[in-house]
Amino acid sequence: MRKLCHCGQMMSLDFRVLIFEGVIEIDRVPVFECKLCDHYEVLPAVKPDLIELLAELKASQEQGLVLFNEVNELVDVMFAIYRTWDQTGSPTFEGLLEQKCKERINLLLDVYGCAKEMDDSGWMEEISKRLAQLSVYVNHNQYLGQINN
Ligand SMILES: [Zn+2]
Repeated sequence: MRKLCHCGQMMSLDFRVLIFEGVIEIDRVPVFECKLCDHYEVLPAVKPDLIELLAELKASQEQGLVLFNEVNELVDVMFAIYRTWDQTGSPTFEGLLEQKCKERINLLLDVYGCAKEMDDSGWMEEISKRLAQLSVYVNHNQYLGQINN
């Protein structure tokens, strides 16, 4: 998973802690990072989720450290791969990501089934949100159909 930096160097995937307004700390944020000029940018796929999380944290006046992977399913899958992935080998990060996202979706669908059986609408909503976070890398309709059944 790579991207070209404005300085011409390839940027690579990394995770870092970002601090907002000196009070909100979010760790394990996936970024593209340039080793040459130290430029970095948050992965476009998770940026809307990060902005939403920030707004929530600000509204709740919460302070301290939040682990992004604990509140975002896609980041959690990425972080798990990143920790164990052999950068030189195959499959590629993208290949692994797609495969792991599908596995996670199947798992969440099972949990969703339980929530539905128990008629727990709060829980169902929570699972739907997590499923939506994963949808960036997999076919959306594939599981939406299953939820609405
Ligand atoms: Zn650069």
